[in-house]
Amino acid sequence: MKCEIIAVGSELLTPWRQDTNSLYLTERLNQIGVRISFKTIVGDRQHDLVSTIATGLRRSDILILMGGLGPTEDDLSREALAEALGVSLRRDGGLVAALSMRFAAMRRPMTDNNLKQCDVLPGSIVLANANGTAPGQWIDTGFEGHRKIILMLPGPPKELKPLFDSDCMPRLRGILPVRNIATRTLKATGIGESAADALLAPIYVTFTDVETTILAGHCEIQLQLTCAKRSMEAAQRRVNELASRLEEALDQYVFSSDGDSLEQIVVYYLELKQETLAVAESCTGGLLAQRITSISGSSRSFLGGAIVYSNDLKTAFTGVPPSLIQTHGAVSAQVAESMARGIRENTGATLGVAITGIAGPLGGTDEKPVGLVYVALSDAKRTFSEECHFRGDRENIRLWASQKALDLVRRRLM
Ligand code: ATP
Ligand code: MG
Repeated sequence: MKCEIIAVGSELLTPWRQDTNSLYLTERLNQIGVRISFKTIVGDRQHDLVSTIATGLRRSDILILMGGLGPTEDDLSREALAEALGVSLRRDGGLVAALSMRFAAMRRPMTDNNLKQCDVLPGSIVLANANGTAPGQWIDTGFEGHRKIILMLPGPPKELKPLFDSDCMPRLRGILPVRNIATRTLKATGIGESAADALLAPIYVTFTDVETTILAGHCEIQLQLTCAKRSMEAAQRRVNELASRLEEALDQYVFSSDGDSLEQIVVYYLELKQETLAVAESCTGGLLAQRITSISGSSRSFLGGAIVYSNDLKTAFTGVPPSLIQTHGAVSAQVAESMARGIRENTGATLGVAITGIAGPLGGTDEKPVGLVYVALSDAKRTFSEECHFRGDRENIRLWASQKALDLVRRRLM
């Protein structure tokens, strides 16, 4: 069954407004096993609307039109749908009466243009809009010999969302086959999207009943697994089977198999293993500590740390010998390791982590280019560092550096 969303509104074609309604609808529809095949944004022009709707009617079984239901000249969804279906609109007496009462209750005069909000398509079920004047419509009709379900919904999100949840979801459930959807999110870091896909595609293509989507971003890849079955147990079983296979293949790169963030995992394992952590940050300026402390309960294992941006503070707060900085430079494995050891010893934490690098865009040299970052970890037994070369802008490099540091801690704990 193909489902299509059409967002109506010229403002959605400008740089200032975004079609967020369709994201909401997509999430809700996915929950009942409906995938979106097409999504279109069209401006408030009758001709464009009619041709967009006509295309939708030809290729989709469920058509969701939203916006353009208001009282103004440029609200044309009703008229355009009627034209595309080749039918005439009918003014609904009951809606006229209700709208007049609504205006009377608000003590506002009702202008004539409001009446067009009372126009309905033949055979439509009117969906009361508790938060606005334009009602929605549910139309179950035939088009060129095929059954079409058409929803017309108001554009303002605060009107569309409750209306869709209360009136459309139950109706859609009623006409769709019973489906239970199981989902699972795996997260991995330290491996690129294409490398991950090369590793995983041979596995997930054999699970034809589980949909696998790879999303890359924010220094990690996410694998979204979705399976729809008549029984929830069967759906869950298939998702879990595939998740285990993928986890096995990704091995140490996987940090979460249930959607948790890297910082959540780190905080979880710190507490589980009864370890405490302190950080020394140069180029990330506190970003690592910020990420850790964003997790509620982190105070039980995160002691704190120091932002040691200048060489003097690297020495004063983390005990890095000035000679070490002079010999190797502030961005070096030796200094990173000295910072990690120093912050651990100064705070009494069981683990110390340090970051020093060149976030750019200035400050790079041939020998030490922008994106060069050393991340070090120190515990009572050993201190080591990793040399990283990150790409992108300053923000990106800093984010990656904090990610790498969190991942070093995770690997040490797991
Ligand atoms: P109204 O009676 O308010 O005119 P309407 O059904 O005609 O309702 P629009 O005029 O198209 O809806 O949009 C009203 C408001 O809702 C605008 O601020 C618009 O930006 C917002 N809106 C419309 N469509 C969307 C969408 N797809 N996603 C997010 N916001 C939207
Ligand atoms: Mg409008």
